[in-house]
Amino acid sequence: MTETTCEHGVEMTDGRCRICGDRTEILRLTEFNLKLCKHCFLRFYERRVRRALEKHAMAGEGDRVALAVSGGKDSTALLFALKRLGTVMDFELRALHFHLNMGEYSRLNLEVVEAQAELAGVPLEVVRLDDLGLRVQRVKGWNACAVCGAIKRSLMNREARRMEATAVATAHTLEDVLLFTFKNLLSRKYYVPQPVLPPTGGLPRKVKPLVYTPERLNLAYCRLREVPVFEDKCPEWTPRGHALKGVFEHMEEVMPSGKLQLLLSLMQAFPPQWEEVESPRLPCARCGEPSAQGLCALCQLAEWFSRRPRERDGGERG
Ligand code: AMP
Ligand code: ZN
Repeated sequence: MTETTCEHGVEMTDGRCRICGDRTEILRLTEFNLKLCKHCFLRFYERRVRRALEKHAMAGEGDRVALAVSGGKDSTALLFALKRLGTVMDFELRALHFHLNMGEYSRLNLEVVEAQAELAGVPLEVVRLDDLGLRVQRVKGWNACAVCGAIKRSLMNREARRMEATAVATAHTLEDVLLFTFKNLLSRKYYVPQPVLPPTGGLPRKVKPLVYTPERLNLAYCRLREVPVFEDKCPEWTPRGHALKGVFEHMEEVMPSGKLQLLLSLMQAFPPQWEEVESPRLPCARCGEPSAQGLCALCQLAEWFSRRPRERDGGERG
């Protein structure tokens, strides 16, 4: 009889590893029609990330890569994999974390990220929203998640420049990119996020080394390397924005590898439109950072949060 151990969604069963042939505990990768032992899985995962880096020239010799880390399974797996790959591919790795100023949630989040960076041996930079007069909160027509996303995107640009990074990496996964693309398609926008955005107007190159990697593999990599992962849900999280992901999971169940094949087809059908590359930039009137408008997004938000609550609420109606 086959014995099964399942640790937090990463299920190991007895079997024979397809790569080394050992009869031991193995992980089934239905997405790739593979069964691998722990050792071979870790190498398989790292090779996969390396292939993405090389295919799109995301990072190489002499680069300084700033990786935005949330402490969750995806950016944690990428942190540990990039640390190894940096040694063999000769690029430098730094981690960047935004403390989102959301009470106990953010405090615990930072604790985990600090432990991860130390364990990985990667220097960590922490930026506190509070120090910049910023908050994750509803603003005018924007909900808190949209504000958080805008803050993170702008801060990544700003901090990467300050750290003199040649590339900023995020841990957007296959599922993230599919979800984003589908939401666009449903409103007749034919646009697929690209694995790499070239540098423009003083902004560094942006790279997504996990675009071809399903989330399940990131979790498995963290579990099998036994690294801590921050698993608390963000206080602003709602199921609404993520419901479509279930559609892809169902498709994957009835057609293994369907998610990856769908993304590859969509990328081929809708080649890059470089309007995505942000328009020409001038220095922000307040902070001097490159901006598409008079005031950059961060300064606009900081200004909004600095106004008295009644003034803000008055402006928020309608
Ligand atoms: P999200 O906007 O939560 O989907 O995250 C997208 C990417 O941003 C992640 O893959 C991380 O690389 C990065 N990220 C998310 N949260 C943080 C954070 N608090 N600090 C730094 N980077 C983050
Ligand atoms: Zn093996």
